[in-house]
Amino acid sequence: MEARAAGEHSHTHEHQAVPSDPALRVKALESLLIEKGLVDPAALDALIDTYENKIGPRNGARVVARAWVDPAYRQRLLANATAAIGELGYGGTQGEHMVAVENGPKVHNLIVCTLCSCYPWSVLGLPPVWYKSAPYRSRSVIDPRGVLREFGLELAEDVEVRVWDSTAELRYLVLPERPAGTDRLGEEELAALVTRDAMIGVAKVSV
Ligand code: FE
Repeated sequence: MEARAAGEHSHTHEHQAVPSDPALRVKALESLLIEKGLVDPAALDALIDTYENKIGPRNGARVVARAWVDPAYRQRLLANATAAIGELGYGGTQGEHMVAVENGPKVHNLIVCTLCSCYPWSVLGLPPVWYKSAPYRSRSVIDPRGVLREFGLELAEDVEVRVWDSTAELRYLVLPERPAGTDRLGEEELAALVTRDAMIGVAKVSV
């Protein structure tokens, strides 16, 4: 995408970036498949709607909020995340084998996939671009504190950083710390505070 100083163009519609190469290829492939009658456009729309609206970080946020308000659920989540996440109705592709790792005052967990881009789709939706980038994948392991600092998260020296390398077989969800001053919030309000980045481990949850 083309970088441009703010205000340089007031008529940006004439300067819209050309769709990325993969986007054009996908579009061409989609058109061809529909033309040949190999896929049903309605089925494609349903699939896209699922990933854009039904599967996403809001699912994970509900899992985290439940764990914060329900100690028994938290225990089940830490003991068997796949089953506990399934209790809330989330599961399926790319979320079959889940592990929840809990942050605390002295422990901070960070998730990466050093090999490619394995990610817990069922609770976090599709991975952000930076998660798939080579620098994040390599540097998260070599210098996790440095990576966290770039995300604006400075951890105290006495906090242990644990980096979890996701695979196709095993995907992780960070259970962030519940922020102070949220005792009076209900589960829904708590869920609204939980961000995707906090569940990857590159941020904390704040009020
Ligand atoms: Fe991967």
